[in-house]
Amino acid sequence: MAILGRLKHGASNLSMIRSAKDIACFGKKYADIRGYANHAAFVTPPYQKLIETLERVRKIFPNEKLTLAEKVLYAHLANPEESFAGVSPSQIRGSLYLKLKPDRVAMQDASAQMALLQFMTCGLERTLIPSSIHCDHLIVGHRGANSDIPESIANNKEIFNFLQSASRKYGIQFWGPGSGIIHQIVLENYAAPGGMMLGTDSHTPNAGGLGMIAIGVGGADAVDAMTNTPWELKAPKIIGVHLKGTMSGWTTPKDLILHLAGKLTVRGGTGHIIEYFGPGVESLSCTGMATICNMGAEVGATTSIFPYTESMKRYLEATHRADVANAAANIHQQHNYLAADAGAKYDEIVEINLSELSPSFNGPFTPDLNTPIEKFSKAIETNKWPKKVSAGLIGSCTNSSYQDMSTVVDVVEQATKAGLKPQVPFLVTPGSELIRATIERDGITKRLEDAGAVVLANACGPCIGMWKRDDKVSSEEPNAILTSFNRNFRSRNDGNPSTMNFLTSPVIVASKIFSSDLAFDPTRDVLQTSDGKPFKFTPPTGIELPPSGFTAGDTSYIPDPNPQPLPETEVTIDPKSTRLEALEPFDSYKGGEMNNLKVAIKVKGKCTTDHISAAGKWLKYKGHLSNICNNTLIGAVNAATGEVNRAYDNGQGMSIPELMWKWKNEGQPWLVVAEHNYGEGSAREHAALQPRAMNGRIILTKSFARIHETNLKKQGILPLTFANEADYEKINAEDKVSTRGITKLLNGALDEPIILVVTKKDGSSVEIPCKHTMSKDQVEFFKAGSALNLIRQKARTKVEDQKVLDSIKQQPDHYADVSVYNRHFIVTRGDQLGLPFRIKNVQVGDTIRFDKVSRLGSRDYTIVGKPYVDSSLHTIEATVLSFPKSALSVRVKHKRRHRHDRVMKHKQTYTILRINKLVIH
Ligand code: SF4
Repeated sequence: MAILGRLKHGASNLSMIRSAKDIACFGKKYADIRGYANHAAFVTPPYQKLIETLERVRKIFPNEKLTLAEKVLYAHLANPEESFAGVSPSQIRGSLYLKLKPDRVAMQDASAQMALLQFMTCGLERTLIPSSIHCDHLIVGHRGANSDIPESIANNKEIFNFLQSASRKYGIQFWGPGSGIIHQIVLENYAAPGGMMLGTDSHTPNAGGLGMIAIGVGGADAVDAMTNTPWELKAPKIIGVHLKGTMSGWTTPKDLILHLAGKLTVRGGTGHIIEYFGPGVESLSCTGMATICNMGAEVGATTSIFPYTESMKRYLEATHRADVANAAANIHQQHNYLAADAGAKYDEIVEINLSELSPSFNGPFTPDLNTPIEKFSKAIETNKWPKKVSAGLIGSCTNSSYQDMSTVVDVVEQATKAGLKPQVPFLVTPGSELIRATIERDGITKRLEDAGAVVLANACGPCIGMWKRDDKVSSEEPNAILTSFNRNFRSRNDGNPSTMNFLTSPVIVASKIFSSDLAFDPTRDVLQTSDGKPFKFTPPTGIELPPSGFTAGDTSYIPDPNPQPLPETEVTIDPKSTRLEALEPFDSYKGGEMNNLKVAIKVKGKCTTDHISAAGKWLKYKGHLSNICNNTLIGAVNAATGEVNRAYDNGQGMSIPELMWKWKNEGQPWLVVAEHNYGEGSAREHAALQPRAMNGRIILTKSFARIHETNLKKQGILPLTFANEADYEKINAEDKVSTRGITKLLNGALDEPIILVVTKKDGSSVEIPCKHTMSKDQVEFFKAGSALNLIRQKARTKVEDQKVLDSIKQQPDHYADVSVYNRHFIVTRGDQLGLPFRIKNVQVGDTIRFDKVSRLGSRDYTIVGKPYVDSSLHTIEATVLSFPKSALSVRVKHKRRHRHDRVMKHKQTYTILRINKLVIH
């Protein structure tokens, strides 16, 4: 087991911070140690291309001042001209959908299962952008890393084997159990200023601490990115947070975000990117900024981002990425890419003076209930919170940097030198093997363990409820824990609904555990030592980066920086498995209207994604669609009877999933009717996958949560809303429904309403007009059966075309340049396209467009208009230069036989066209 093979290192002096030069020097050595000397080549964003794309945006909006977030997003647009056609700058934020091409994807072990199962159905040989998988969520925190990791591996062997073999097959970087928490590893290895990534975890924005746009998404979105399909995002609004002053004493970056969460509340950042700016930014460490961006998820922000700073440079150098730092600094110097334009406008500005912040606590049960330390004692009394602390936990992806750990050990040592001991269990989770090995080498681990701390595995553990708690707290009596984590919803950490988690900084957790009194204020109060002397903490000091540089620890965790796919790798899914199931593509839409659907359930009241696809014990079935389908809508209230999870078929009662399976087996399509904000809560794609897998075709509501509505469309379900909300009363469970208007929708009539013709049990019928928000692209998902089906069709085409193209280009004597358009091969010479026959009805000088071009010689052309100008990307636009009689003669020579020979082997006379626009797909 890899974790047992740790390297041994002696402790070293923590007292001095090395210069940036020293750190850079070590960074190089470290890169060599990791066998990673060229690693930077694979993680440096394609700055030149990004700047070129941004320049195209600047041409469209020459006078627009851009925020940093906009620059990075727009630099990743698939096609700026198409995105912004006919749009003014004021019509973008909060309204316009952007089609983006992220640089990278990261997936954690729980969500990666469905993402990979979906990716596997696409028929690609590899992921088309760099991707990584991180085994962190399934590891239990109990007695410590050395026993917890082998146990967790044994219990999740099937899942880890699946993830590892799929990674090998498709060229994905695999970080095994014990390597660390996804966001910490991303920060240490992949995050880069001005880049963009998607991650299948809500705290992906952690990478904003290194100036990256990093967004948490579901598996289907990750598949978009992995197949290089433009990923859609409604352009977020931008909240600017203006920082001034500097932190001092006990205050840490965690306190900034705890304070901001209190101000904005859990919904305040929804639909927004939080962008930090101002003089206060320069005083923050890179890992501190990552902590702040990480917890932007707690206010619902799409992501958070900081401008490029010297501390980012230091961190990149210390983590073997000096080349990334240099490239970022150069591009920033030349183009001001990594900061907002002077005069850029924010939708809202929040002012924070870092000098005025103090440590604080957020909670219990919500991350936005903020109480500054000076008011905490009073709040405990007022709210009747428990008086005693039951445990202190530090770590998680939010707070497990070297700086956090070195600050913690400072206060722990102050107390232990005075003879004090922790009064409650004290658990420490290093964020990664890099951190674990470095704090071990530097003696931090020993000092924490000597003080009584239990060091858990480099994984999520207690942060995600994988905490085997031995201290026997009651589920009846409230108990208080202090953590440096980011979320504190009821039952999240230990499954106990009575546990109150107060989120705070690591150093406040570590100092407060020396008293069991929850009200103890380490910044002011005095403790008694065993010999009766008073003891008071002094404000802690930490170290931004390890003075002797990072040590890699167990290098066997580190994947190849540029893994190549191994197509022969077998990805085994045991057909008898209860946790994994291969996905079958959903059927494509047969066309026409839908007839004789039945209402499976009419839901009353709130229906979140937790009601539609419950979590808890169901999490283990995330990779097994059929099994997790058995939780579909089990939390929903039947509008007719008030019962939860009860549906009826001709008077026979059963659970909602039972009815859905029954109808699926009978070939009976169905729909769900519900009220407002259907699908709010976490962006859980299973809540859309499951109804689709059981033959659900329409969800009809008073309104949808936006992300869930998009998820439904991606899975080929038609989301409709009542044109008149009162019509909710006109439709009931078991009614039969047929549609009018889908045929028009399929033909591109997006503005036409859809009418549902509802036939009641007594034979009477009523018409219900409905609205939809399907875009042109989403109609294509619906036709194909799902977004994934569409991707699969396109991806297969691309791979096959590329193979042919590559083989043609290898032929030494090939005469012409060969391009590929829409599965058809076009032989060109320079900028000319030769057609072996005369095109009717056009004249020399006309501009023509080809919608479909087949291989030369087959005469399967469609000419659209003349003269024709089209800005669509799916266009070959050309000017007619001459006709066969007077045309040049083009001879195409081939030595070897090839499938293209039949096109090119003869001497031909061509119609010669000058290609004005040729897009290769
Ligand atoms: Fe999520 Fe906690 Fe793991 Fe971070 S440490 S990725 S917040 S479960």
